[in-house]
Amino acid sequence: MYDVTEIRRDFPILSREVNGKPLVYLDNGASAQKPQVVIDAITRAYAEEYANVHRGLHYLSNLATEKYESTRGVIAKFLGVTDEDEIVMNTGTTMGINTVAYGWGMPNLRAGDEIVLSVMEHHANIVPWHFLRERQGVVIKWVDVDSTGYLDPEAVIAAMGPKTKLVAVTHLSNVLGTVVDVKTICHAARERGIATLVDGSQAAVHMPLNVEEIGCDFYAITGHKLYGPSGSGAIYMRKDRMAEMQPFLGGGDMIREVHKDEVLWNDAPMTFEAGTPGIVQQIGLGVALDYMMGIGMENIAAHEKKLRDYARTRLDGLNWLQVQGTTPDKAAIFSFTLDGAAHAHDISTILDKKGVAVRAGQHCTGPLMDHMGLTATCRASFGMYNTEEEVDKLVDALELAHDLFA
Ligand code: PLP
Repeated sequence: MYDVTEIRRDFPILSREVNGKPLVYLDNGASAQKPQVVIDAITRAYAEEYANVHRGLHYLSNLATEKYESTRGVIAKFLGVTDEDEIVMNTGTTMGINTVAYGWGMPNLRAGDEIVLSVMEHHANIVPWHFLRERQGVVIKWVDVDSTGYLDPEAVIAAMGPKTKLVAVTHLSNVLGTVVDVKTICHAARERGIATLVDGSQAAVHMPLNVEEIGCDFYAITGHKLYGPSGSGAIYMRKDRMAEMQPFLGGGDMIREVHKDEVLWNDAPMTFEAGTPGIVQQIGLGVALDYMMGIGMENIAAHEKKLRDYARTRLDGLNWLQVQGTTPDKAAIFSFTLDGAAHAHDISTILDKKGVAVRAGQHCTGPLMDHMGLTATCRASFGMYNTEEEVDKLVDALELAHDLFA
């Protein structure tokens, strides 16, 4: 049985107060809190097991290498990937997508080639493609969402033309909570020889995954949202696409031999892991993913579904509040605006006074904000440790904010 009280006990920060009130942490979409097992693993790695990886022949270096490398296997299992050499470890989604833009996009795309994006992408899945637009003349084609925030896979497929070389879409919108049918999109793209990148930053936190079934070429995740350390992460890259890539960052570890007039690359995935990596961060990420799998991704998803339904009912009861993103199967991520002139930042400041942590602003989604005709929203994003009681506290704090601004 899913025991949320027990899970909460695993996260020390959840028992602290903020502004004299018990913390209600609803900013999980930005970054999640860390369970004690991850904090302990980080401490142990530094206190007892630390050295640089891959290079030493001494005991500690071998131990650190073993621990660091074992995370690769954990990530592969978490993502449903058979061959762990298809997992490149990095600092998070931003690094993963830039690795694809520089490593695959630059050598393979020419002026006039098209990249299809949805309008609800995070800047991390927009700006690297703008680099290719500005520097190589690549054309970006945008696919809109409807008024509920739904992205029709058929609209994405319809945007795939003879010049389309890549489709890059989010699996779950960080603003609207929309879950995208990436499987249909990726299979259609594969039939047409088009590469696919899925931004899994948000989806990986909330649902069981099998990227081989999704059929994408690249799947990016970020560790700090997965209850792991900041500066940890990974990207799945299909072997046949890796073979089309050039290294992005040059330096130690990604080479086999360096001479005055020649460099021989290391084998993948090391080709894409230049320099000393986030050793302890990745060790912590492995522990975080094991912790999530121990609870069970199906169980986490079921708990969050109940929270979503409860939050939806409570927020729908506030007739002065507009939720953005109303697809029935969305994740427990609620962006909203309030009637009147109250700015999202003012609302979030009042919520903070009540101990309720939410995010306010554009959420790194400029094109989506333009599409919705908004400059900012407040966002309450739930995680595995949140409760219905916390939904009530959010609603109480919102009522206070509404009374103040009405
Ligand atoms: N993509 C989505 C959907 C996100 O929500 C985020 C983080 O907010 C990112 C990408 C970027 O992740 P990171 O900053 O960890 O690289």
